[in-house]
This record gives sequence, structure tokens and C-alpha cells, in this order.
Amino acid sequence: MKTIKLDNKWLIMSPSVFVDMVNEHTILLYDTKNGHYLISHDNKLISLVTILYKPQNLGVVNAEILADYNSVDIDEALEKGFIYTKNMTNKYKPINFLPILNLQKDLEKEDENGIKGRLQIIGSKLRFVSGVYITLDYAVSNNDEKLFQLRNIAATQHPCPSYGNVNEKLSVDNVKYILENLKLTSTAIVDFICSSYYFENCSFRNFLELISKYGFSYRFHIYIEDYERLAQEWETVEDKPIVEFVIYNDRFSSHNVILENKSLPYKIKQVTLIYDECDLQIGNENMLPVWTGDNMEFFKKNIWIEKSDIDNTVVNMHSIFRNKKLNANFFGIIDFIPNGNIYPHGVKHSIGNISDPKFSFSSVIVKELKDNNSWRLTRNLTHCSQCPYRYLCPPISIYEMQLKNIKMCNINKH
Ligand code: SF4
Repeated sequence: MKTIKLDNKWLIMSPSVFVDMVNEHTILLYDTKNGHYLISHDNKLISLVTILYKPQNLGVVNAEILADYNSVDIDEALEKGFIYTKNMTNKYKPINFLPILNLQKDLEKEDENGIKGRLQIIGSKLRFVSGVYITLDYAVSNNDEKLFQLRNIAATQHPCPSYGNVNEKLSVDNVKYILENLKLTSTAIVDFICSSYYFENCSFRNFLELISKYGFSYRFHIYIEDYERLAQEWETVEDKPIVEFVIYNDRFSSHNVILENKSLPYKIKQVTLIYDECDLQIGNENMLPVWTGDNMEFFKKNIWIEKSDIDNTVVNMHSIFRNKKLNANFFGIIDFIPNGNIYPHGVKHSIGNISDPKFSFSSVIVKELKDNNSWRLTRNLTHCSQCPYRYLCPPISIYEMQLKNIKMCNINKH
């Protein structure tokens, strides 16, 4: 029988474990296979993991090191399989493929030319655009102040129509111009937000025929009050594009479309806006909460993240790395409003106007990549920066963007 020499026993960092050095006193070990994790403030464990992660070690060191590094947390890390020992029958060190984020084209990487140099090496910028929300018009107020106020708040958080005192419109020429430019991007679906007033001059039928010439699918975000009128015009269109209607209703809506038993030539999604507890509808899976500023208790109870949400979710390595570098709620999406202004999705901060002679899609993308209003807004850049869950939590939400000092969780009370 062969005896295994001690110097052939190795300590290995599991490649399925994500390691986050939150700060010099805190480390998170998170197993992306099963969601088990360990948050530790133990200096010995922190030092041991640092040694394992040294480039010359590549996640493997001789197991003799455990004679100097022993602690309750190291025992727990061994017990949970974050690190493990392995006997080799030969003299060679085992190969370990630790997951490492490829930072070659990372915008945050130090470069002698700063971000300008980084932007040059990432090549075509247009491919970053994967979606657009084009607000075609503002619906005209119907003198119901509360409706006007709450629906306009909702429109800052969700792609539902907003209201104005006049029916300001994005010109059809500008719509064409946007669609032409989008051909060069990664966009597959174009989202229009509108009221039926938009189609008083350019009929819905003409509009559909125009957009059918481009190779996109479309979603129209409308309030339920406008649906019947647009649906009627649909029948008369010859070249029909692929369309989905996202139909919003709320406490101000006088009716709900009854769609059961109707076979429609387009998709329909009905969404209910929820302003507080009394709007909740049991069994309705398509509800969108609206942060009104007065409904903190409702949000704390129903929306904020609980520790159990993190404990019961397994986050894969891809999502964790993505959460380190960009905000998946906003990245690659740009918003257009009727006066031609362009916003990075999630913020009302203009990064260009399509009527500007110097405007180009590339220029607004570069501006957002440099300014980082929302696309690369990650939790480590905010009040969450010292929290061990910063890359496990969902990306920063639109609600948090609007109330920068508020953490939407019931976990970290600071
Ligand atoms: S503080 Fe931030 S990262 Fe930590 S649990 Fe709360 S929301 Fe998530």
C-alpha cells in the first residue's frame, strides 16, 4: 500500500466560491453552487485566502500551511467546502481554475490615458445599446390632480405614459431617425410609450406601417383607456409589425380589458400599478409598485430585501461578476422624450438631444460610459459599499436611484 507524503497534500480554494474582500477586516466566501456563504472577520482566514489568491499560488498551497493557520472560521470554511485538502499520489501541484474577472477592457482599469484610452480599446460603442424607451408624447391632463400626480410619479419609475399640460410630441421624422440608427446597435425590441393623442395627426395605422419597415419587434406601453382605440386601427393595417401591448391600469382606471377567450394577432400584457397596500390584488402576478414618497411602510413590508431572500437564492458566478461591473437594470438602455432629449435609463439627466447638429449615438454612449449616471452604478459605489452582500443583492433599483440615501433592505440597518 502506498503511503502519501505530507508534502503531497494540498489546500485548495474551491473554484465555485466567490471571494469578496469587503474591507481589511471582512471577507465573504460564497459558494455559487449552493448559495452557502460565510461572512468572517477572522484575520487568519482573511490572510489564508489572500495567500491562496496570490498569482503564484493560483488557489493551491501546500496543506502544511494549516499548521500556522487555524481558527474556528477556517474550520468552518473547510467544513463547508469553501477550501478543501487533497492528497496527490505524485509530486505535482494540482491545477485549479479560479474564476477571475477578465479586466482587459475594463473601463475602471488604471490607464495612462485615463478613461479616454480605455474607451478607445473597447471598440464599437453602438453594440452596447440593447434597448430604448421612446416616449412619443405626454397625455393631456384630465383635471384629476391626484391621477396626474401619481401617474407622473409612476412614469419616473416604470415605462408607463406620463401627463403634461399640452400634448408635446416626438416628431415622426425623429422616430425614423432613431430607428435608422438603432439598426447598428444590439437592439431587438423597441419600446414606445404613448397615449392615443399621439396618433391624431399621424394615424396609428400609418405609424405601424412605417415601423414595420424596420426589423424590430415593438412594445407599446399605454394606459387601458387608450387600448380600444388603438386596437380598432390595428385591423386596418396591411404590413403588421410584431407588436406587444403593455397595458397599464391603476386605481384611476374605470375598466379592465377582458381578454380571455380572445385570440389576438398581437401579444398583450396587463400591468397594475400599486400605490399602496389597498391597491394590492391577490393572485395578480403583474403588479408594479410605485414609490410615492408616502408609502415607506408599504415598501418596507412588501418590497425591501430580507436576509431570507438572500439565503434562499443561489446567485451564479456570472451574475456576481456582472453585479461588480454594471447595473443590469439600466446598462445599455437609453430613453428618448418628446423634446428629443436623451437619458441613460433610470435617471432624468440629459446626455444629448437628437436635434443637436453634433448629436450621434456614439457620442451619447461615450458620455454615459464616462459620466456613469446609471449604466455602471453598482452597489460598491453607494451606501452599500461596506455590506458583505453588495454583489449578491439585486442591482440598484430605480427606487434607490430616486432616494439615494435609502437602502431597500431590512438587513443592514446602518
Ligand atoms: S445594505 Fe445594500 S448590499 Fe447590503 S443587504 Fe442592504 S441593499 Fe443589499
